[in-house]
Amino acid sequence: MHKESAEPGAAQVHRSVDVLVVGGGVIGLASALALVGTGRSVRVLEAGTVGCGASHGNCGTITPSHALPLAAPGTIARALRWMLTPDAPLYIRPRLDPALWAWLLRFTARCNRRDWLQAGASKAAILQASRALLPEWVSRYQLDCEFAESGTDHVFRDPDALAGFEQELHALHELGIAFELIDGNEYHRGEPALREGVAGVVRFPGDARLRPDRYVAGLARALRDAGGVIVEHCEVHAVSNDGDGQRVHASQGEFRARDVLFATGAWSPRLADSLRLAAPVLRRAMQPGKGYSITYDRPSSPPRHPLVLHERSVCVTAWPSGFRLGSTMEFSGYDDSLNRRRLDALERAAREYLCEPVGPVKREEWFGWRPMTFDDLPIIGRVPGHRNLWLATGHGMLGVSMSTATAQLVADSIAGRAPLIDPAPYHAERFA
Ligand SMILES: Cc1cc2nc3c(=O)[nH]c(=O)nc-3n(C[C@H](O)[C@H](O)[C@H](O)COP(=O)(O)OP(=O)(O)OC[C@H]3O[C@@H](n4cnc5c(N)ncnc54)[C@H](O)[C@@H]3O)c2cc1C
Repeated sequence: MHKESAEPGAAQVHRSVDVLVVGGGVIGLASALALVGTGRSVRVLEAGTVGCGASHGNCGTITPSHALPLAAPGTIARALRWMLTPDAPLYIRPRLDPALWAWLLRFTARCNRRDWLQAGASKAAILQASRALLPEWVSRYQLDCEFAESGTDHVFRDPDALAGFEQELHALHELGIAFELIDGNEYHRGEPALREGVAGVVRFPGDARLRPDRYVAGLARALRDAGGVIVEHCEVHAVSNDGDGQRVHASQGEFRARDVLFATGAWSPRLADSLRLAAPVLRRAMQPGKGYSITYDRPSSPPRHPLVLHERSVCVTAWPSGFRLGSTMEFSGYDDSLNRRRLDALERAAREYLCEPVGPVKREEWFGWRPMTFDDLPIIGRVPGHRNLWLATGHGMLGVSMSTATAQLVADSIAGRAPLIDPAPYHAERFA
């Protein structure tokens, strides 16, 4: 790495680049790669190691089928019922946190049909654009990430829950998302991994899956191969503008660039606070939504498609290299403990549905903070009021699924090119 130092004892000053990307998760790395593709020189500053945040142990499903936002008619009634069940898929730790309660109120206000459908259309646009780009990225950058055009199957054991899914299926159909309804007995004949008692299955053939840690590693390798630089263990503390570009103050010295992109996932409100950048917007808009996963060696007969165990909201993904159960949405701030009850709930759910619910060897128990916005749409575009500062965050439950189109939108915006899709629904100004 090229470095220029001022005086002994002074902070190291690093050579200026076109774009500094803060955050080396799936969003920061994909954006950096797309930016290098437009001829920009790029440096990624990552507080830990690449992919150490939410991008590491997530379920790796690529799901346009999840286009409809969490804030839906009926969500509040369901959430209140879940509040009485300690290991339910949603948990809100009771505590005095005005920012969280304000966020929940804004979320609640959106649980109506009009907002649900409107946000669904904007989510579908970025998810479908991303899904279309992904195979091309996998091939162009030779991303060795166990990508497969697998579809996903939502498994229902309760006929009433299946009937209750009809409204969602109708809305997804309107958004152009294909699905097939499969009778439980018929499905069972082709999928011996499931226990008896399946009421029905909804298959989304347009979905896909990959192994997220390998995807992140592939993006990082491709970025370095293309001339990008990644600086790990480099936490950003502040940014200032001296009229000659942006100066980013970090644990490894001072970095300069013409543009800075913040791709700091769930940490974005905290960083914005310390930078005094768009802090009210990000504090209002985002909360960390904690999720858990357990990774095992591959069982002898895993399910052939990634599954969503619908009544338990647990995702099951099998790759040639392993097997993962993941899920739960916990609003407990930046609490970084592993909650045993919630991890056990994953295995309990798997036992209800699967003949072989866990793999032969448990490799990892993990949590990640999803960057949740209350309207369930990402934030992509300029920091309001700052010409050369950019945001790519708030991807919630779908950052891997949205990564390629987000990257393309970021690169188009910074390069001043016609955008891939209409960027307006993702601008931060909507929260101002
Ligand atoms: C259990 C679970 C399952 C999931 N399953 C799926 C799925 O199947 N499909 C899907 O599409 N999505 C899924 N997600 C969501 C997905 O993981 C996230 O949306 C995505 O990883 C967000 O990526 P990111 O790059 O924005 O954030 P992160 O991966 O969290 O990256 C942010 C990075 O910024 C760094 N950083 C923060 N502050 C600073 C600073 N001051 N200076 C420098 N660096 C900093 C952090 O260290 C971190 O590496 C799941 C999430 C969870 C928790």
